[in-house]
Amino acid sequence: MYMGHFAIALGARRRLQRLPMAWLLAASIEPDLHDVLGNLVPALGVGPDTHTLPGVCAAAIGVAAVTALVFRRAGLALGAGVLVLSHVAVDYLTSRLPLWRHGPVVGLHLYATPWADFLLEAGTIAIGLALYAGSPDLRRPTRGWITAMAALMLAFQAAWNFGLGGG
Ligand SMILES: [Zn+2]
Repeated sequence: MYMGHFAIALGARRRLQRLPMAWLLAASIEPDLHDVLGNLVPALGVGPDTHTLPGVCAAAIGVAAVTALVFRRAGLALGAGVLVLSHVAVDYLTSRLPLWRHGPVVGLHLYATPWADFLLEAGTIAIGLALYAGSPDLRRPTRGWITAMAALMLAFQAAWNFGLGGG
């Protein structure tokens, strides 16, 4: 999944307002950040495991533990951990991923059907931003700003699905 991850983080903010937005965004794409780290430092050997069940569970526990240490709230720690798990859960819809290293590869692989992936991610963006707009602490959420953010996210998603040489 692409922009949908960010939409999930924005939607989660409604319940996890005490966590900084950057924290929520990072948790929602933690396995991809881990991939980048693995590519930069191959010696760490994390590459093959970031999107496996054991890998994402370990990452979720790690993120939850750090969140608990920094913010001292069990609910926030749990929420951050669930955000990490959500990443791989929805990636199984859009990609095909090994359940564990050298394990069976499963997934719907909606990336292969760009319009289907676009519809799924557009729906996720709509739900995520609707939840975000309902965050009780947002100061008079300017609807125009949230609509502009939705349009931007949809544009990025469309470029991902239909542009850039049709990848
Ligand atoms: Zn991913």
